[in-house]
Amino acid sequence: MLTLPTLGAQTAAHAASTTATHCPYCSLQCGMNVVVAGDQAHVETRDFPTNKGGLCQKGWTSTDLLSHPERLTSPLMRAAKDQPLRPVTWDQALERILKSIADAQQNHGRNSVGVFGGGGLTNEKAYILGKFARVALKTSEIDYNGRFCMASSAVANVKALGLDRGLPFPLSDIPGAKTILLVGSNVAETMPPVMQYFDLQRKNGGCLIVADPRRTPTAAAASIHLQLTPGTDSALANGLLYLAIHNKDLDEKFIAARTSGFERARKVAESYWPDRVERITGVPEKLLRMAARELGTAATALILTARGPEQQSQGVENALAFINLTLALGKIGKPSCGFGTITGQGNGQGGREHGLKSDQLPGYRKIDNADHRRHIADIWNIAVDDLPGTGKSAYEMLSQCGMPNGLRALLVFGSNPVNSAPRASFVQDRLRALDLLVVADMFLSETAAIADVVLPTTQWAEEEGTMTNVEGRIILRRRALDPPAGVRTDLEIVSALAKGLKSAGNFPSQASEVFEELRRASAGGISDYSGVTYEKITSENGVFWPCPAGNTTGTPRLFAENFPTADGRARFHPVEFRQFSEQPDSEYPLFLTTGRVMAQYQSGTQTRRVKKLNDAVPEAFVEIHPAMAATMKIGEGEGVALTTRRGTLTAKAVLTQTIRMDTVFVPFHFAGESRANLLTNPKLDPFSRMPDFKVCAVRVEKAPIC
Ligand code: SF4
Repeated sequence: MLTLPTLGAQTAAHAASTTATHCPYCSLQCGMNVVVAGDQAHVETRDFPTNKGGLCQKGWTSTDLLSHPERLTSPLMRAAKDQPLRPVTWDQALERILKSIADAQQNHGRNSVGVFGGGGLTNEKAYILGKFARVALKTSEIDYNGRFCMASSAVANVKALGLDRGLPFPLSDIPGAKTILLVGSNVAETMPPVMQYFDLQRKNGGCLIVADPRRTPTAAAASIHLQLTPGTDSALANGLLYLAIHNKDLDEKFIAARTSGFERARKVAESYWPDRVERITGVPEKLLRMAARELGTAATALILTARGPEQQSQGVENALAFINLTLALGKIGKPSCGFGTITGQGNGQGGREHGLKSDQLPGYRKIDNADHRRHIADIWNIAVDDLPGTGKSAYEMLSQCGMPNGLRALLVFGSNPVNSAPRASFVQDRLRALDLLVVADMFLSETAAIADVVLPTTQWAEEEGTMTNVEGRIILRRRALDPPAGVRTDLEIVSALAKGLKSAGNFPSQASEVFEELRRASAGGISDYSGVTYEKITSENGVFWPCPAGNTTGTPRLFAENFPTADGRARFHPVEFRQFSEQPDSEYPLFLTTGRVMAQYQSGTQTRRVKKLNDAVPEAFVEIHPAMAATMKIGEGEGVALTTRRGTLTAKAVLTQTIRMDTVFVPFHFAGESRANLLTNPKLDPFSRMPDFKVCAVRVEKAPIC
């Protein structure tokens, strides 16, 4: 229970109200009730088809932030780079932003101003930011933090299946799968309520295979754990395809009728015989054969990837290799069959569907497609030639700030790249080099702390808007209470800036109004929302896209009849395993991998401020195998310095036999000198522009903790 001292009379209007809404954090978007009684707010469960009443610790404590003492309630601005941030009025803050934008664009061109969004923004915000950048700022420079999350599987899905929707089937398909291969996902910690589906699957006699370099709680619950070397995912997938071929488990009929390109994929897979795959991946041949048998003989099977294989500079190829396996087994387009990706951030999916990514336009349209450009230009009432083209990807945009041909001004909404970008200290320096850094956030995040102007925003329970969850189910967040005085919604901020820029475009500040335009913009696109209304979302517990106008039910399961490719067939892509971009050597002899813990979320701007969550995991740590630690005389809880070619991090050692001997793990939620991303490699996937977050070479040394 939380006291809401700042809400005063506004809250009284909502006394004793119960609002059915959703958790503000991950892509499961659990249904919950927010109960506001007088000056207190708390969370109660509600029956919703995804979480079925379950919530994790983060959901339960999500109202703790609504009146947190560190909440920003006034714009902040610094008079000069060496001056502190001081409270100013909204007019002063907006005036400064508009002047700096005008100066930058006059002196350095339209593309000297950029927008960087977060993967937790609603569909309405994603849509309006994409429109704001291209219509009001007339810049091509817009991207978002979701680029660091699901971009690789998104590209792979489009290449192979013609469409990118996290899960192309509902979560309710999971218990019916005889075999599930889950690669690089620790759902038991990252989205605990979803484990009920996997638990039921095993209770039904199903086999759960988890591939992960760590024996996570998810891997510990599995029937088979394939503890692969970080970065060897495509070799593992090819090895499983090799065995499917030699065990005669292929669905030849499906391959012939519904796919193209199998022979080339088969030819590549033929060189991944089991003992070679064991040498590459470290997965014992016996376990590989067991896993292949379970997959190949199952009547129904799901293959799911997540950030493990995807957050790599070969993330697209990794995802393609697992799609090849799914197609070869014919396990797609039927109940409890399919390939899917467990999306991470609350609305990483919707963000790219509605134009927050540099190469995409609303409705999952392509910015370099003439027909797509014409459709959106018409909706936005601009000449098609005035619609900018593809901008830089997230890391490329951030790493070129303040450089020749890079940005001079950047507006950040709901993101904290000082923590979440790879090679974080370099990115921080580039952000400091901007003439203007604006951050719109509810707290003084590490990025906001170095901004020139900070704009205080509303929180999830104080506004409405839609999100698109891990299944492609569009859900509606409702306003449960009024925001404190002094804050504004992102939509209100964008609306005011567009007006200040004298844009002729329509930039409503009401989410429902934005959604109506989004529906029209998405009509006829891959992610068609034109048949979705707030009322339908409410009455049907969410709507799965595509849902064209006139469609009453949406589309829970995709690919039953065909694939949305030019010829209606899914495409195999031959994938050769490539060595890691950073091979361990005598100077950096181990692998570093990064990830999440149950009590924290993303860059920690919110969860590090929730006492119960922070008490549970208050600081970064280094997981290291006891045998490896012994060689360096490192004991439990002692200080460890990790050094990569980008930087050094110091944290306490956690000795655990659950990690491979050649690998160390650090969670990425923490700030300052314990930022995991001080170490990570910014090498980008050539197709998705995803950095190599999940594998790089590291040196481990005993070190005092300051
Ligand atoms: Fe929130 Fe995700 Fe936890 Fe559900 S699983 S309560 S959506 S953080």
